[in-house]
Amino acid sequence: QQDQINTFINKEAVSPDGVRVDIELNLASVSEQALEGEKYTDGVGLFRTEFLYLGRDSLPTEEEQFEIYRAVLTKFGGRPVTLRTLDIGGDKKLGCLNLPHEENPFLGNRALRLCFDRPDIFRTQLRAAFRASVYGNLWLMFPMVASIDDIFRAKQAVFEVKKELTDENIAFSPDVKLGIMIEIPSIALLADFAAKEVDFASIGTNDLCQYTMAVDRLNPAVNEYYQSYNPALFRLIHLAAKSFLENGKPVCVCGELGGDRLGAAVLMGLGVRKLSMNISSVAQIRKLVNELPMKKAEQIAANVLALSSAKEAEQYLNSALKEIL
Ligand code: PEP
Ligand code: MG
Repeated sequence: QQDQINTFINKEAVSPDGVRVDIELNLASVSEQALEGEKYTDGVGLFRTEFLYLGRDSLPTEEEQFEIYRAVLTKFGGRPVTLRTLDIGGDKKLGCLNLPHEENPFLGNRALRLCFDRPDIFRTQLRAAFRASVYGNLWLMFPMVASIDDIFRAKQAVFEVKKELTDENIAFSPDVKLGIMIEIPSIALLADFAAKEVDFASIGTNDLCQYTMAVDRLNPAVNEYYQSYNPALFRLIHLAAKSFLENGKPVCVCGELGGDRLGAAVLMGLGVRKLSMNISSVAQIRKLVNELPMKKAEQIAANVLALSSAKEAEQYLNSALKEIL
């Protein structure tokens, strides 16, 4: 069976009724093995840059980051590389920064918030990314956006970095796309406004589930409350995706749900045309897209939105997709 699934790893993801879905890669390092995924994917939908900062005593320099971003952009040629700015805090601690202990790190000074607090760190990363942008197709994405103000502040930081580089006569691509992660319910609810401010959205279902269900994603004691198939989560995704799609802005899902068979079927039905995942899910999801008519995915999604519990949704999805492994 696994052999049969694996035959799909290189097959373009087009549904039987002719709708194409981009299958992108989640990258969390630039090891040779991780970059192997390049052969089987339409781009990088989530380049987690935390690895650059972890397990060391000093912050990565602009030059160091530039070399790595350039290597990944070059490797993917014209395909999008969605670089996520630093998402540290919460579950992700940092040796080279002496961050104070927080009672609720997932609700604390994390990701973009930390970057606003430490403009030196943010600026260095943005400079490295923009300098590398001339080597490929850079999409730049901000994690943990909670409000429209966050978007304005992030865009202002980008504006300043671009001005600096221009003043220094350093080249960067004029085509860098700016996007946000939708992983906090407040911005999902205001996605119609957010969609006017940025070029794309990527839905982070791992955190969106955590913050919607009010359950620590790392705490095994409350694991049963972390319900990825809860219709409440699908309703939020629906709202956010619809807002961006109506504005003609691409929507990706880069959380675990995008690489999950049942989840991906619903996401397709909600209009998502980009799914980003770990390499281990690529063959299975390419197979799903090839075997699930988009019309059927739409029906499935509509039915799930009308259910009241995660359990019902999971049972329904398993039966609706039982023919498709
Ligand atoms: C997410 O929250 O869904 C996501 C993709 O980001 P991370 O898992 O790195 O927090
Ligand atoms: Mg996240």
